[in-house]
Amino acid sequence: MVGSIHQSLLVAKRLQGKVALITGGASGIGASTARLFAKHGAKVLTADVQDELGHSLSKMNSDESISYVHCDVTSESDVKNAVDLAVSRYGKLDIMFNNAGILGNIETRAVATDTDNFKRVLDVNLVGGFLGAKHAARVMIPAKKGCILFTASVASLVCVGVPHAYTTSKHGLVGLAKSLAVELGEYGIRVNSISPHAVVTPLFQKSLGISDKGKGEEMISATAVLKGTILEAQDIAQAALFLASDEAKYLSGVNLPVDGGYSFNNQTWKNGLEFC
Ligand code: NAD
Repeated sequence: MVGSIHQSLLVAKRLQGKVALITGGASGIGASTARLFAKHGAKVLTADVQDELGHSLSKMNSDESISYVHCDVTSESDVKNAVDLAVSRYGKLDIMFNNAGILGNIETRAVATDTDNFKRVLDVNLVGGFLGAKHAARVMIPAKKGCILFTASVASLVCVGVPHAYTTSKHGLVGLAKSLAVELGEYGIRVNSISPHAVVTPLFQKSLGISDKGKGEEMISATAVLKGTILEAQDIAQAALFLASDEAKYLSGVNLPVDGGYSFNNQTWKNGLEFC
């Protein structure tokens, strides 16, 4: 008896009957989250600009629980269309995961920063996230429920040597999530962000020019606080699953670090008070 209860808990579908839209869902963290949400009973619409990859992810899921729509998050009409498609195809929208993002040029000096690139990063990461939230709220408010998530970054908590535009965009998302949490709480809508430490995904590999996954993981491990394990896209998906599920029913306005303690460590004090 205890064994069978234990067994049913293990296979419990934590998003049964829910509908999710995931931007940046064709690759990396978004694709991993789409698979996990579908495994937990959700109908998932992924939205991205990488059409071939997006369609192939849908085809891999033989039960048709994942579908794909082309959507550039910087285009309000594309985002509106993706939200409306989720509603017309599945009847509602419970979870909006604003996850699409780019690092942009890796120049980290302000004086050498290309201003157009700075604007582009803000447009994709921050304005794109806002558009997703705006159109999700449009359909969630009448339903008086919903969950909006953003993928921020440890760069929303500490300076990690990434370009200013990226840091700015991720801080912006955290502020946006809090501001929306206050406005939309009245309608039963929860809004949260997730802040991962580095994960070897195409974004990470392309931006840093690292083709070897193992090498990327080695680099990340060297700076990680939590040793003996590696952060993977799947771990961010698990955090999103928790925040999207009813288990997190009273969590709103939270920026959840998935960083193994990285963001509150001060490396300059690594060796303790040895100067005393
Ligand atoms: P990824 O490149 O694998 O996935 C990002 C996806 O966003 C891609 O499929 C890409 O096509 C899509 N995208 C980019 N511009 C878009 C646009 N204009 N419209 C729609 N889709 C667009 O990278 P990832 O690491 O999975 O990144 C997902 C999110 O996680 C990003 O917001 C990123 O900033 C954040 N993040 C990543 C890391 C990391 O180390 N990988 C760490 C912290 C936060």
